[in-house]
Amino acid sequence: MSETDQGGAVFARQAFLPSGWRHDVRLSYSHGRFTHIEANQKPQPGDTLCDIALPPLASLHSHAFQRAMAGLAETRRDPADSFWTWRKQMYALASRVTPDDMRAIAAQLYLEMLKAGFTQLGEFHYLHRTPDGNAYDNKAEMALAVIDAAQEAGIGITILPTLYSHAGFGRALAPEQARFRSDPDFIAEILGAITARHGGDIMVQHGLALHSLRAVDRQNLAQMLGMIAPDLPIHIHIAEQQREVTECLDYLGRRPVAWLMDEVPVDHRWCLVHATHLDHDETLRLAASGAVAGLCPVTEANLGDGFFPLEPYIARHGRFGIGTDSNVLPSVAEELRLLEYGRRLATQKRCCALPEGMLGSVGRFLYESALKGGAQACAHGGGKLALHHRADLCTLDQADFALPDLQNDALFDGMIFARATLPVRNVLAGGRWVIKNGHHPQEASIQARFRDVVRRLQH
Ligand SMILES: [Zn+2]
Repeated sequence: MSETDQGGAVFARQAFLPSGWRHDVRLSYSHGRFTHIEANQKPQPGDTLCDIALPPLASLHSHAFQRAMAGLAETRRDPADSFWTWRKQMYALASRVTPDDMRAIAAQLYLEMLKAGFTQLGEFHYLHRTPDGNAYDNKAEMALAVIDAAQEAGIGITILPTLYSHAGFGRALAPEQARFRSDPDFIAEILGAITARHGGDIMVQHGLALHSLRAVDRQNLAQMLGMIAPDLPIHIHIAEQQREVTECLDYLGRRPVAWLMDEVPVDHRWCLVHATHLDHDETLRLAASGAVAGLCPVTEANLGDGFFPLEPYIARHGRFGIGTDSNVLPSVAEELRLLEYGRRLATQKRCCALPEGMLGSVGRFLYESALKGGAQACAHGGGKLALHHRADLCTLDQADFALPDLQNDALFDGMIFARATLPVRNVLAGGRWVIKNGHHPQEASIQARFRDVVRRLQH
């Protein structure tokens, strides 16, 4: 019997349940799911004791291999440095990563994500082919390598094989994009291989990604959507850069989000990643659609993308989650803090993320919104400490907060605004303790392998 099957129980002095903060909560789990949750209890022998139990977040948007260039793209090499010059560096890395490299890089990243307080990620995966553009014998080779890494780290993954057919609107792929080349049949084959190997695994979900409107065309978009199961999550990069909006206007005659909403039934299955450059009408339409805006504030800041129109979107109950995207800095606290601080700097106001007229904790609103948005976009059956949901939680110690004796929503504000990172002690993912006292059991070997791979990739 595996550790997952053995089950166990956690006793928390404070736990954040779907009904809000509750005290003296006992949470039992078995076969990877919560089987009993009750407040006002006493601890029982064998329980794991903690001060605070939180449902962990999902990073709904990740490109794992980019962790191998974190911090290496901060030198100006071109007088007109931009997203597009950064992308050249990223392509140079993408052209060299083997399946084994991918396993090593992703395992290190996923371990860091667990320590940061994520137990699920959406991997927007487009490194499909060999570096010279041929298909691997198993077309899902690279996707399965990413899943192997998630399983080694013990994190949940929603793998999103990505349709990528064009370099830009009406333009053929460039040689440095040969690894990404895919059509709907190719993606369907990868999805089939993933289901064959991992169907029924509580830690592996799958969905579809469309790289962007510039990388798919109307025909293969329609064909692809017709080939997938009706309830599958669908992710797309959209309106990240102003240049993309201009090119879309030139080629399709409409702005990217407006075009997508006009042409495709965008609903709760969809995650629009970035959606940075929206006009007012697009903002309201996206909010009303039930889709999730996949916000990646750290990467968007790092790449100079721009800032999502948060206030009007939230005023219309728009849903959002957070993604670590380029993985330059995998941090729950930093993503949420930057989302709020970016708006404060831009508007010269405070507490911007709360809908107008609503009072209360900004930290709680950010965290709870990102929980719901992440769970919707990754479709992993987690995101809340609730019966029959996946048994994911992270524990925090009261002593690790800057101020003593914090209670309830003040804990959210204390961990997001007054700590560099979330003070995560232990992490349970799918009923397995994957982080114990701040460490992963395979931390040393995973890190050594990662360092070897990065050294080789840099030479
Ligand atoms: Zn991305």
